[in-house]
Amino acid sequence: MGLFDDLIKGAEDLFGKGQCALGFHKGEWKYVYPDQCDQVIHCERCGEKKRLKHQSYTRWQDDPDYQCWEFRTCTRCVDKEERSNHNYSKERAKNEWECYTFIQTCSKCGKEKDKRYSSPKHSWGSWKVNPNVQNEMFRVCNRCNAKEFSKIKD
Ligand SMILES: [Zn+2]
Ligand SMILES: [Zn+2]
Ligand SMILES: [Zn+2]
Ligand SMILES: [Zn+2]
Repeated sequence: MGLFDDLIKGAEDLFGKGQCALGFHKGEWKYVYPDQCDQVIHCERCGEKKRLKHQSYTRWQDDPDYQCWEFRTCTRCVDKEERSNHNYSKERAKNEWECYTFIQTCSKCGKEKDKRYSSPKHSWGSWKVNPNVQNEMFRVCNRCNAKEFSKIKD
């Protein structure tokens, strides 16, 4: 009987530890201050203390005062989260002569965002047969005139 109980106990412990590892601690969430959102749990099983803030927020809403910003508020306290919500266009090359720097523009406020790539993103023209070398094709970047060669497979 005692052995059987021990087995059950062991299985429960094992299961419990697994739960804790997954973040499902045992105990009751308590508010730290009645009027704020901080909650703590002191796990009865593993002794871990965990703290949570602001559990639920409203949906994101456009900020009427600032273009391209949106905010949401905590449904329980006055906490407010903000983030930008630019509506960036597709990337286009920033300069006419190089293929590393690309830019996006927000269609709402006109803000521009640069991105520089470590390897070029060419705008290749179509493959052409190289008249000077047998069995070779080449193509040229419309922007920076970089060339790429390739063997023609027969
Ligand atoms: Zn735990
Ligand atoms: Zn809150
Ligand atoms: Zn914007
Ligand atoms: Zn190029």
